[in-house]
Amino acid sequence: MPVVQLQKRIFNEVPVEKEIFQNIVTLKHITNLVWYNNDDQVTNFTIKAMLSDADSRFGWCYLSCNFCKKKIPENLYCQKCRKELKFPQMRYNIEMKVTDESAKTTFLLFDSIAQKLIGLSCYQLLNKQENDIFSGE
Ligand SMILES: [Zn+2]
Repeated sequence: MPVVQLQKRIFNEVPVEKEIFQNIVTLKHITNLVWYNNDDQVTNFTIKAMLSDADSRFGWCYLSCNFCKKKIPENLYCQKCRKELKFPQMRYNIEMKVTDESAKTTFLLFDSIAQKLIGLSCYQLLNKQENDIFSGE
């Protein structure tokens, strides 16, 4: 697969409703791409695939810094921001096994995407789990 020169994308140029019908590719296409390491370039693809499993071996959420969103240790000190955090946030970080007819791979669902799919913030889901356990559900 050739190296792909990513197009610089202007956000909100195309509405999401139209964008999902553009750039439709297979999983194999995505897994075979070789990306330039250039942080300011973003390309969106649409794939039709099945979320087959969640891999929670390394957890599905983490305690994060409110400022930089990085994972923080239990002492609640963010090394990057050099701050002790009083109210750190729980964020999703879910590894999803994804399959289509061409390939299998793993996608990492970061907080904002996982929140949209699940319909609850990480904090809300953890609270719901806790309430369900104590109410015997
Ligand atoms: Zn931080």
